Amino acid sequence: MQALREMEIGVMFWGGRDPVATLREVKGLGVRCGQLGIPGDMKLEGAAAAWKAALGAGQFTLVTVFGGFTGESYADIPTVERTVGFIPQATRAEREARTLALSDLAAELGVPSVALHVGFVPEDTGDPDYIAVREMVRRVADHAARHSQTFALETGQEPAHVLLKFLKDLNRPNVRINFDPANMILYGSGDPIEALGALGPYVISVHCKDGDWPPKNVPGALGAERPLGQGSVGMERFIAKLKEISYQGPLIIEREVEDHQERLRDIRMAVGLLERLRQVH
Ligand code: MG
Repeated sequence: MQALREMEIGVMFWGGRDPVATLREVKGLGVRCGQLGIPGDMKLEGAAAAWKAALGAGQFTLVTVFGGFTGESYADIPTVERTVGFIPQATRAEREARTLALSDLAAELGVPSVALHVGFVPEDTGDPDYIAVREMVRRVADHAARHSQTFALETGQEPAHVLLKFLKDLNRPNVRINFDPANMILYGSGDPIEALGALGPYVISVHCKDGDWPPKNVPGALGAERPLGQGSVGMERFIAKLKEISYQGPLIIEREVEDHQERLRDIRMAVGLLERLRQVH
């Protein structure tokens, strides 16, 4: 895979379709790197060979293999708490096994990082769920370390100080952060620019995503995602802060709107916006 520039612009996209066609579409957005999301129901047999061939032929660099799990729902905050990541007890064993398999897949593809949402980690460090999830993350991190990979936790579902405490307690040097500023806002977890300052040394990759704060009158509601530059993150501040903390990793555009054409159009617009913001300051 080719070397990337500092703050190279990339796109978060999902596997599950033909790798060659998928990469053609992503490259058509004007990028040459990205993060590959693996849906929970995607078959892993044969995936490494097919993706490796497509990545090589397309001269496309994957920076992260990103895991999603069957049964996850982001409908509102209580549903996220109940269904996402390593928190739900009933699916812990299968999700841990799946994450180890994703780390193996990433290793076959030569990708240096695996990431996912671990879900809402309780603040109480004596809570049995906290302890169980901490041990899961440690086992996954140790597996990833054997492949010389980082294991990145996506931000947003908890305030920065809670995540920072969790990272210190994990005590695994290859556990890092995939920083998503919009999630901080969508979940009402705090100002993302301040959070980025606090978490800076741990940040290995970022999502460039935008959104608005949750409505005040609907308990448990999430805020709404917006096209990049049109939400409450303040992309100029975000990019300026990344420069201030000497972040050199990729700028990965994430847009989760359902309509495919709208998604592609918004990503194209986001590439243009980030190209402009990279130049200033
Ligand atoms: Mg994200």
